[in-house]
Amino acid sequence: MLLTITTTHIPADDLSFLLHKHPGRIQQVELSAGKAHIFYPEVNARLCTAALLLDLDPVGLVRNAGPKGNDFALEQYVNDRPYVCSSFMSAAIAKAYSSALNGRCKDKPELVDVAMPFVVKLSVLPVRGGEQLLKTLFEPLGYAITATQHPLDPAFPDWGMSRYFTVELSNTITLQQLLSHLYVLIPVCDNDKHYWIARDEIEKLLDKGKAWLETHTAQELIVRRYLKNQRALANKAFEVLVSKDETEEDADEKTVTEDTLAVLIEPKPRIHDLRLLAARDELLAAGAKRVADLGCGEGKLMKLLMAEKQFEFLLGMDVSYRSLEIAQERLKLDRLPEKQRERVQLIQGSLTYRDKRLEGFDGAALVEVIEHLDQPRLAALELSVFEYARPEVVVVTTPNAEYNVKFENLEGGKMRHADHRFEWTRKQFEAWATDVALKHNYDVIFKPIGESDPEVGALSQMAVFGLRVKGTEQFNLNSEIKNVDQ
Ligand code: SAH
Repeated sequence: MLLTITTTHIPADDLSFLLHKHPGRIQQVELSAGKAHIFYPEVNARLCTAALLLDLDPVGLVRNAGPKGNDFALEQYVNDRPYVCSSFMSAAIAKAYSSALNGRCKDKPELVDVAMPFVVKLSVLPVRGGEQLLKTLFEPLGYAITATQHPLDPAFPDWGMSRYFTVELSNTITLQQLLSHLYVLIPVCDNDKHYWIARDEIEKLLDKGKAWLETHTAQELIVRRYLKNQRALANKAFEVLVSKDETEEDADEKTVTEDTLAVLIEPKPRIHDLRLLAARDELLAAGAKRVADLGCGEGKLMKLLMAEKQFEFLLGMDVSYRSLEIAQERLKLDRLPEKQRERVQLIQGSLTYRDKRLEGFDGAALVEVIEHLDQPRLAALELSVFEYARPEVVVVTTPNAEYNVKFENLEGGKMRHADHRFEWTRKQFEAWATDVALKHNYDVIFKPIGESDPEVGALSQMAVFGLRVKGTEQFNLNSEIKNVDQ
């Protein structure tokens, strides 16, 4: 795949000195799984373009991945790697432009610190997170971005857009800064399996990125994606990066994490993500350590909860075996280290029966579960959760039926999901939850979730139950939860 770097700095052919590559020759460097070619499509005193063309060998890729390289055999041969900018492009930058990346220029050392106007073009960059991600990553570094998203197949417009973009980035900076940004951020955009994750990747990340990562608003997202799936490595990198005195941090500074990104990338945030995040935040704020996700489905909430150290033990329970199988896959339980594995458990069971395995938890969530039960069965759920399991905090979410009129493609009176047995108005939900709370000695507060309309209310609704401390009328939720109007 092609990366071109163009400058209009005068004299423009200074670029060839900085890159240590003669403009009159086509040169090659060998990579672990192919070759990179370096050439200059255009060089004159006013404009100079250097091109780096990746030529990956798909068979070489498989060979290098080794026997454990990929879980899915066919994917080793059928994938986009030879055709996109990925971690291989970073490897090519490091090899082909190594002096420039490391801030060295033998013949004209004074050029190293000169900020030049650059335009970079990346043809075919996979971007998980769309244009919003590109902005999140590059704008804080001063880039102007033009991104063209490609359709999956122009012959079949109904299939929609792909995750592949042609991206043009403009900035006036030093070449070393430019290359270090690309080196780190190309694999972050791609967010696929990187073929070079190893212990020394932290050093490379810090070496290439420390100067600008420390203050980047998406630092966490960048480090986690760069050190993909290597939580221990990522945490280590944070330790080094967050060397600043914490008190110096600007409390209002907006940081972008993977979760906030999920919300950012869609003009209307995906409502289900908001529910999951809301449930997680309530459990975090309540200080819960042992948490049960009741009706955990395919494990989406479990996944979010597992990322939080505060939760010492997590139980996912569902009546559907198939959903639990999917959850098991999603959470990669088979591949977790022993200690992590002990922290998480998935069980099959029904919330309409008393179940001893649900006792001894201090937090529980029922995200979009109650509406899947026939209403007469709710009384049984109520007993099993609030009378027998009796966690200190219970978060329940359910759709707000009043909002349904706002969905253009939902016929009047219809429900949002084929398996919903009922959908409640705010009044109905509040009446049910208040009654449950009274009967079982809980307090309850209500919070809207998602886009809110002055008349019909929010897309979804949440009740947070807090067990009253024995012998007092004290609400057992901490002050953050009590603040209903937040
Ligand atoms: N909480 C998950 C799934 C919501 S879908 C999420 O937010 O993504 C509702 C889930 O409730 C389904 O997985 C369904 O199998 C489960 N469910 C329905 N009745 C149940 C019961 N009686 N006991 C346990 N789980 C039940």
